[in-house]
Amino acid sequence: MYAYHELIYDLIRIDVFQKEMSFFSIGNSVLGQNIFCVTVGTGPKNALIVAGHHSLETMMSRFLMEYLFRSKKELFEGITLYAVPLLNPDGADIASGRIKQPDFSKDQSLWQANYRGVDLNHNYDAGFYLAKKAVEQEGIYGPNYTKYGGEAPFSEPETRAIKKLCKKIPFDLAIALHSQGEEIYYEYDGIIPQGTQKYLENLKETTHYKIAAPTGTASHAGMKDWFIKEYGKPGFTIEAGLGKNPLPNTLFPNLYRDCKKIVDCMLETLKAQ
Ligand SMILES: [Zn+2]
Repeated sequence: MYAYHELIYDLIRIDVFQKEMSFFSIGNSVLGQNIFCVTVGTGPKNALIVAGHHSLETMMSRFLMEYLFRSKKELFEGITLYAVPLLNPDGADIASGRIKQPDFSKDQSLWQANYRGVDLNHNYDAGFYLAKKAVEQEGIYGPNYTKYGGEAPFSEPETRAIKKLCKKIPFDLAIALHSQGEEIYYEYDGIIPQGTQKYLENLKETTHYKIAAPTGTASHAGMKDWFIKEYGKPGFTIEAGLGKNPLPNTLFPNLYRDCKKIVDCMLETLKAQ
């Protein structure tokens, strides 16, 4: 399972073999591990891709790093891509059994949250209290292995790192990578940012993934929601693959092929705008 150790190994690969890429830390997790961001491309349009909000979905972290390694460099001409492959390194280390979970969880192998039991994709400032209420109706009132959004928006260092990066870089596009469902979400609370339609048209030509609106507890307080609300620029969530998280490694080749098409399409659309 892809976790902090695998990421460090990939960053060493970048350091040694990929001179056109660089990386830096955008902040630290609860346990003080670095949250890395890899950059590639020559601007002037800026795209953000974030993977690894959820510990059981780090196949998307692996996807993102392989995507950077395998893509032709011409793809990144005219854009600068900021890729955050593993936003929740502590959670990934818990789910992969490398560090012990805090006491309040039932089952380490189901861990989706950060070390404090906050689900990072419920911690953004976009309908935060609506999401909190919906989750409370499911019986979740405090730190938990999944879905608990924290005491307040941006209470967690991992989400604050994304907020800080977005303040620093004027992103034209943001993509959050999750698994699973083979769906793409593109709006927040009725807001469809200008330029989104072009992405959807191009995606329909490109992928069999369903273009959909999220419902229930997944419809607020996520990264895409906050990005759309805060900046009014196209923001997407990709729910990759089909199955039960963590997806088995045997699915990776198909997942890579499908997601590469989708992300290529989005970056090409951004370049054409
Ligand atoms: Zn997720």
